[in-house]
Parts: sequence; C-alpha cells; structure tokens
Amino acid sequence: MVVSLVVQKYGGTSVADPDRIKAVADHIVATRRAGKDVVVVVSAMGKTTDDLEHLAHEVSTVPDGREMDMLLTAGERISIALLCMAIIDRGEHAVSFTGSQAGILTDTAHRKAKILEIKADRLRDAVTDGSIAVVAGFQGVSTTSDITTLGRGGSDTTAVALAAALDAEVCEIYTDVAGVFTADPRVVPTARKLDRVSYEEMLDMSATGGRVLALRSVEFARNHDVPVHVRSSFTWEPGTWVVQEDEVMEQAIISGVTHDLSEAKITITHVPDRPGIAARLFRALADDSVNVDMIVQNVSTEGHTDISFTVPRDDVARTQKAVEQIVDDLEASGFSADENVGRVSLVGAGMKTHPGVAAAMFETLAQEGVNIEMISTSSIRISCVVASEDVERAVRVLHVAFELGDDG
Ligand code: ASP
Ligand code: MG
Repeated sequence: MVVSLVVQKYGGTSVADPDRIKAVADHIVATRRAGKDVVVVVSAMGKTTDDLEHLAHEVSTVPDGREMDMLLTAGERISIALLCMAIIDRGEHAVSFTGSQAGILTDTAHRKAKILEIKADRLRDAVTDGSIAVVAGFQGVSTTSDITTLGRGGSDTTAVALAAALDAEVCEIYTDVAGVFTADPRVVPTARKLDRVSYEEMLDMSATGGRVLALRSVEFARNHDVPVHVRSSFTWEPGTWVVQEDEVMEQAIISGVTHDLSEAKITITHVPDRPGIAARLFRALADDSVNVDMIVQNVSTEGHTDISFTVPRDDVARTQKAVEQIVDDLEASGFSADENVGRVSLVGAGMKTHPGVAAAMFETLAQEGVNIEMISTSSIRISCVVASEDVERAVRVLHVAFELGDDG
C-alpha cells in the first residue's frame, strides 16, 4: 500500500504561544492518525524574527550577513523543538530537523539564499520509521557549509520545496487567514474567499501586494507542479487551492484586486530621447542591485522625454544615490522621488480572452476622480500607480465594479 505524504507548514502566528503550539500538535497528530505520512515545516514563534532583527541592529549598524543568518535561524529552532515535544506528549513519534539536517542545500547569498538541492534521505528515513518530521523553515546550509536564510517569509518556500522533493500529494500552508481573498478583507469587508486560483494568478497576486504566500514559493510550486492549499490554523476550514489553470473550474474574468504601498516612484526629467540613455540608467541601477519594477517613458517633445519607474521604498536612498551619479552623464535636467504612491492591480486569467477590462478599470477610477500616474500590464494583470491616499478607495470601487464580493 502506498501511503500518501502531506507537507504542512505553520506560520509564525499559528505557533505564537504554547496553546497555539498544542493546537497545531493536535492537528498534526490527527492527520497522522488518519493514515498520512506527515512532514511539517514551521516558522519562528510570533514576532520572534522581527525581534531578533531589532536586536541585531542594536549591536551593529550594518549586521554581518553570515551572523544575521546564524541569529535568525535560532527562531525556527525554538519552534521545531517545542512542537516536537508537544507531538511526543500526544503519543506520536516526532523528530526535529534544522534546515541543514533536513538536507536543504543553498547558494552562499546570506539573507536571500536560493535552494539548489534537497537531499531528503534523512527526512524520508524518519517518515519511513513512522515518525513525524518537523523541519525548521526559512533556512538551509550553503555550498560552503554556512547557515543561510531564504529571505523573510521563506518558510513557505521551504515547505513547497520539500513537498516537491518528497513528492507530497499536497503542500498545506496554515496561516492566520482563511485563504486567498478577492481583496484584502481589512480594506474590503465583503471580499470573498476564492476556492481555487491558478499558479499564474497567485504569482501576479503575490507580486502586487497579495500578502498570503511568498512569491518564490509560488514560483517553485508552479515550476514543480505542487498543489498548494492555503488555509487557516484557527478554524481548520478548507481554504484556497493553488493549482494549474486547467484545474480552476468556473474561471472568472477577474479573480482579485490587490494593492501595495511599499513602492516609490522615481522620475528623471528632460532626458535626451536617443538610443542608449535607458540602457545606461537601468544598467547603473541594476549594478547597484536596485529592484526596478514598472517603467514608463513619456512621449518626447523636442527630442527630450521623462522616464519614471518604481522601486521598493526601502531602496529609495540607494536609487537616489545611483541616479545622482549619472544624472549629468545622462544630460537630464534633474530627478525626483515620490513616496506618496501606491499600486492597485486587477488579476484574472479570464482577461486573456476578454477585451475591455482595462477600459472598465480606467473608467471606474475616473468616475471616482482617481488619477492614474502609471500603468503596466501583463496578459493576466493590469496595474495602476495612484496617489497613496487613493489606494484603498480605488480597491473598494474596483471590487464593486467587477462584482467580486459576496454582494456581487
Ligand atoms: N520566520 C521568518 C520570517 O518571519 C520566516 C517565515 O516566517 O516564513 O520571515
Ligand atoms: Mg513569519
């Protein structure tokens, strides 16, 4: 008989205190007793990772990357041990593993390491022996044997990667929300939980402010065809399945409205409109590892044009420094940074076959008096940069206009 294996990942709020850890242990034990092999991935308790980061900044202005990873991985080490103790108390075998012990091999980029390979033999052996394997999320060991982390929110990626390596039937991501919603329920109270979304939609949602799953975990799930089930560890109700597009029944034109207030808009004014200018500008930013997102170049008048682009707000200082250095070289008249912006996006696979979505979106924003500063599109997404004070209102009117809510 082939026993099926599930990977269950529990986020920081799901294991925030001893009672939460015991509730999670109950659920894991129940899953095991229902006849499944279980591999668990767990995050650090509550705000532990934030607290450790603050601590680091209290002793160092620019904490060393290797030591930061050594520090942050301690958070997950606490939760794996406690969770195993609680499971053992309930009469099942459980064994904890650090990322390194679980065979998660990464590159050497501290604080944003990428998984290169998973040598899952130890986990497989533990499971074959009848144990529940509990793995520390968000961490691995590098090709030079140093402890690494995968970037904030990286436990999702650990879970999906393990599910792929172990050929799990599903990767369940337990969190403090009931699933993926048509909009952030804090902004739109009538937002509806989606039963299913495609990997592509989830990627665009995660990239544009949908805070449910880490972007890289979705990429990994799509590339390795891992079914992901995002659900609540508070109600234990079924949540949202993230699956291949052809497994999404009743494909809506629009699946959701997302918003993001973490970016800033940089504008370089009056640059000569000739070959090589954009190349020089964005090469300089790329060499400084600035993550440029939307780019708009205006129509030129008298041989000059403005170039605007967005960057993460955290990168504004670095961007300004880089632009300052080349602004003369570009023969531009100057540049400005506007942090008072946000992005509102419509995401939906149905857009591909349904014309007029962009027009309807712009009309809705126009009726509401919301000015659009930048626009970008993909085949299943339309994003508008607007003033930050207009963002929540824009989300609400779009949610109504596209009939996404319970009342729609
Ligand atoms: N504990 C890490 C963080 O807070 C990893 C995770 O929770 O996914 O970023
Ligand atoms: Mg976390």
